[in-house]
Amino acid sequence: MSIIDKALEANSNYAKNYDPKLGKRPAPKIAVVTCMDPRLSDLPGILGLPQADLDVIRTGGPAVTEDVLGELVVSNRILGTTEILLLNHTGCGFTTFTDDELNAKLSASTGDASPAPMRFFSYKDPEQNTREQIKKVRSHPWIAKEIPVRGVIFDVDTGRLREVKA
Ligand SMILES: [Zn+2]
Repeated sequence: MSIIDKALEANSNYAKNYDPKLGKRPAPKIAVVTCMDPRLSDLPGILGLPQADLDVIRTGGPAVTEDVLGELVVSNRILGTTEILLLNHTGCGFTTFTDDELNAKLSASTGDASPAPMRFFSYKDPEQNTREQIKKVRSHPWIAKEIPVRGVIFDVDTGRLREVKA
């Protein structure tokens, strides 16, 4: 049985106990941009905040792309979040290759170079990445000036967060 088939089966049990009140319009309080890495999935645990308060935007890295900026603008201006947290982490897979290296590897292993060059937003230093993200988000004219934009690094070995000063 595929993982998705198992999940669809499990969902029928989930739906039996589902609280329909959860379906009303979301009202998150904070936007969190973080990596696709599964070690960052327990954000209510990591941050000690209720799931409903978190508007989570995930990309590899994370990379603050034009899409992410658009989502942050919607999060602030439409959904009403009042703070932005950029949550980076140690041991990120996106620090283990460069875009050029991964493009070359995938072109070679698949035998098809037509999608290359693809942007993977690889990077080397989570601290520098965090500082650049803060600057990028802060400088967007549609992110209100009174919204705090802060960056942290999650240590995957200790579970601790460390703030990076812009
Ligand atoms: Zn990562």
